[in-house]
Amino acid sequence: MANGWFGKKRLPGAEVQEAPPSIPDGLWTQCGKCREVLFAREWERNLKVCTKCGHHFRLTAPERIAMLLDEESFVEIDGDLTSANPLNFPGYDDKIRRHGAASGLKDAVVSGHGTLDGYALSVAVTDAHFMRGAMGSVVGERISRAVELATQRRTPVLLISGSGGGARMEEGLLSLMQMAKTSASIARHHDAGLMTIILLTDPSLAGIMASWGSLGDVLLAEPGAQIGFVGERVSQQAHLGKVPQGFQSSEFQLTHGQIDQVVHRKDLRDTLTLLLEFAGAPGVA
Ligand SMILES: [Zn+2]
Repeated sequence: MANGWFGKKRLPGAEVQEAPPSIPDGLWTQCGKCREVLFAREWERNLKVCTKCGHHFRLTAPERIAMLLDEESFVEIDGDLTSANPLNFPGYDDKIRRHGAASGLKDAVVSGHGTLDGYALSVAVTDAHFMRGAMGSVVGERISRAVELATQRRTPVLLISGSGGGARMEEGLLSLMQMAKTSASIARHHDAGLMTIILLTDPSLAGIMASWGSLGDVLLAEPGAQIGFVGERVSQQAHLGKVPQGFQSSEFQLTHGQIDQVVHRKDLRDTLTLLLEFAGAPGVA
């Protein structure tokens, strides 16, 4: 596994990573968990995992694709899809523009196809830096199309969740509909005898986990990721009682049978390669 993935091929939005204001941008960054100050170059070489405590920082969708797929193999599809404002929800157009300008993305997902260690696959990655990764029509449509493309090409599909926003309230029922649509596309992919791999990263919550985020043949998660439906505060507000400590972590979900494996970021590519090999994914000539 090569070092310097982030430096080699920056895609639009790859630079977005907030640094604490007291630390000079670009040279140092601070771990949000243990507060250790980290030398940025070393931290990047370590795939943005804290060298002291192992905390996995959030990645943007372009960073994730650059890290996992073979160099220059990724071909984005549906990159021109943008959200409409069908309900004329106040401020929604502005919000889309602001998040687009800050992240370099058109919406909270990047999708396309490429290869991973030579194995062809479709991929879609939601990005928590754009409206917390909440699923609207564009996110749902691009995920469904990525799955459908994989079905047509008879390849596996890898869906990566980084979404704490659930369904996007600004699009109302059209957002909720994406849960059924994405689920149906995965079911058809499954019926065609093809593999769906889900990778859950921090955060993976709400509508994502009530639809495509839990529908893989294999469910992987990064260490320490927040994974669940509703949070502790909402659970208690809804009078569901006291929740177990850490009940939304990857590790809790693993010990309770909700996911198959927790995989350190440095091992992800090798783990995915093994799965693609097992799935009999067609390679590229
Ligand atoms: Zn740390």
